Amino acid sequence: MPTSPLWRPFTQHAVEPTPPRIVRAEGAWLETDGGERILDAISSWWVTTHGHRHPAIMAAMREATESLDQIIFAGLTHEPAEALARELVGLAPTGLAHVFFSDSGSTSVEVALKMALGFFRNRGEARAKIAVMEGAYHGDTIGAMSVGARGVFNAPYEPLLFDVERIPFPAAGREQATIDALEAAGRSGELAALLVEPLILGAGGMLMYPAAVLAELARVARAAGALFIADEVMTGWGRTGTLFACEQADVSPDILCTSKGLTGGAIPLAATLATAAIFEAHWSTDRAKTFFHSSSFTANPIACAAALANVGVWRDEPVRERVATLAAGQARRVEGFRRDPRFANVRSCGTITALDLRSADIGYLAEVGPKLRAFFLARGLLVRPLGDVIYLMPPYCVTESELDALYDAIAEAPDALELAR
Ligand SMILES: *Cc1c(COP(=O)(O)O)cnc(C)c1O
Repeated sequence: MPTSPLWRPFTQHAVEPTPPRIVRAEGAWLETDGGERILDAISSWWVTTHGHRHPAIMAAMREATESLDQIIFAGLTHEPAEALARELVGLAPTGLAHVFFSDSGSTSVEVALKMALGFFRNRGEARAKIAVMEGAYHGDTIGAMSVGARGVFNAPYEPLLFDVERIPFPAAGREQATIDALEAAGRSGELAALLVEPLILGAGGMLMYPAAVLAELARVARAAGALFIADEVMTGWGRTGTLFACEQADVSPDILCTSKGLTGGAIPLAATLATAAIFEAHWSTDRAKTFFHSSSFTANPIACAAALANVGVWRDEPVRERVATLAAGQARRVEGFRRDPRFANVRSCGTITALDLRSADIGYLAEVGPKLRAFFLARGLLVRPLGDVIYLMPPYCVTESELDALYDAIAEAPDALELAR
């Protein structure tokens, strides 16, 4: 029976081992209370971009605490949020002119959905349907689950989830079916928005699709009178090779969600960026048209200071070069598995690589996931496969020799665990 009061995320306590206790984090490495070192190859669930405890980000938070803590953000303002909003508008794809702060990726998506519905309602247009991609993940709150893939993760909550239009994932060779499905969904005239993870579906299994398809989806959504929402919670801040993934498709979304890497991964913060048109639809002397959303910690000054420091790191350090080098190093190494019959669907997108293990039991609940995790951890590597999908998403400070160690372990894993068919 449990010895700890803790209830952990996505953890089946009945079968999982006691986790290592981390006492120190630095760069790509974590250190346990027993003095063991663990290479964080998944950026602590995709948040850590530059590396753990980047000095400039840590210093900015320390400095912010000298003068501010949480300040109510309705009716009062503060410099860290003002400055950060200006920076974000400057960095984001063109047209995004307003920034709404919240605390997590899930809430940034909830905010995006509410902005889209508020936009049409305030304009007197009857549009309230959301189109999403099959296999998508947008978070774990009720609204975010509703727009995400249905499955074992949310089956118990299904009665609370709302219906959405689902278009197929644009698998290679079947892109047109995706475009056609969106066109069909748009014909009702009720579509408020298309919500997608640009270029790569993360939690859905690191499924990648080309920028040209993203551009076409945005075009079709707008032709149908709907808004285009990019959930860049995972893809933002360099993950796919560019600051935001949308840049590669040369599309500017109407609404963009960012969180994870926004503070370099140091402290929770999220932002939902919207166009002037969406903001202006809520601008009225009629108070009923207010954007009715808040969270207690909206625009927390310390988190905003961390995000400002992250923007500074992007400006002052060769982050783009680091990202390009990592992307090339990752792609080169994963390509080596292309002819290995024990793996399938070898793929990469920017700093992310993924490959599927060919094994007898497949899917997220496949026993291979926990076994692989234990195998990597025993080698001092934090890798957390999504079922039989092994992926790497390291912080940008990871070295060539550390990457070598990771790919050596991947090569050994199937035979060591007698997993391969
Ligand atoms: C992680 C993630 C979310 C949810 O973010 P949280 O901070 O965990 O709530 C939403 N969308 C995408 C694409 C994500 O990867």
